[in-house]
Amino acid sequence: MTISIKTRKIIWSRSGNICAFPGCRQALTEIGSNGGNEFVVGEECHIVARASDGPRGLTTPPPEGLDSFSNLVLLCPTHHCIVDAQPEIYTVESLQDIKAAHEARIRVRDGEKKLEEEHEFSRYDRICSGLPAVNAWNFGPSLIVVCSFGSAPVAVGQGRWRGSGLKFQHIYTAKGSATLLISSEGEFDIEYWMANESLCVVQHTFEPESNTIVPFLQRTFDLNNFPATCSGKILLSPPKGSIDALPDVMEFLRRQKTGSSDGIEESLFRVRNGGLKDPDQAIEKLDSLRGLWWYDGAGAETAESVIRELELVKAWKCKAV
Ligand SMILES: [Zn+2]
Repeated sequence: MTISIKTRKIIWSRSGNICAFPGCRQALTEIGSNGGNEFVVGEECHIVARASDGPRGLTTPPPEGLDSFSNLVLLCPTHHCIVDAQPEIYTVESLQDIKAAHEARIRVRDGEKKLEEEHEFSRYDRICSGLPAVNAWNFGPSLIVVCSFGSAPVAVGQGRWRGSGLKFQHIYTAKGSATLLISSEGEFDIEYWMANESLCVVQHTFEPESNTIVPFLQRTFDLNNFPATCSGKILLSPPKGSIDALPDVMEFLRRQKTGSSDGIEESLFRVRNGGLKDPDQAIEKLDSLRGLWWYDGAGAETAESVIRELELVKAWKCKAV
């Protein structure tokens, strides 16, 4: 088994971008010197090791599975090394405590940021059918309210917020109200902010080449219209040669033997990367996989989410950068 995209989104989001080791403030992702490329520092550490003879290995794996959210903790490389080198000190129970305490600290941190303005937002709750309102911006007769049915958004600086399970509502006093976007509860990585009189929303996705979650699509809602008009641009550029690699990836997916799920999720996202240049061809290829044994359960969930992304690429292809 591998760590699913959904689990990755959840652990990376709940870690608050900080190593879980007590007292460590190392960010899990960093921006390169001179504002260069972002890079990933954090490591996904298994609490019960993957192999029974690994650090904290058990002959009986946890019931939720070794690659489940509850069995993973994000650490900086130094602390990953420190805990793996001393399994007699950093036992399964101690790492579970470290993870729980870290996530609680992040919740408090985010909660404090939310509390400052909470009383201002609560009067908008009814606008989103009773969902808690988490942000609101006023522009003359226009009001934008963000409600949440997922993880509470976290302030990430420069007026930007990041969360999941969000509903963006545009209310224009004279003309009623319109829903601009509803994100999935599994998407723990919707970033949004106000720029001039526009609402900008960046959705993130899984990138198999770097094994990280990266910006995928930016939607910009111009609030001077009602409902707000939307433009978008695809932020993920197709890796070199990805379209030529499609036949090999398809061959790999077709040949998967029953029970061997390794690599399926990543390969589906590689088909997506190929489809950044030619979404129609990639969607057709994904459709042709529907009869295969693994195109069920988690496989189907990933394939359908890749198809949804390709539909977005198709919609905004002419504006792609
Ligand atoms: Zn650390």
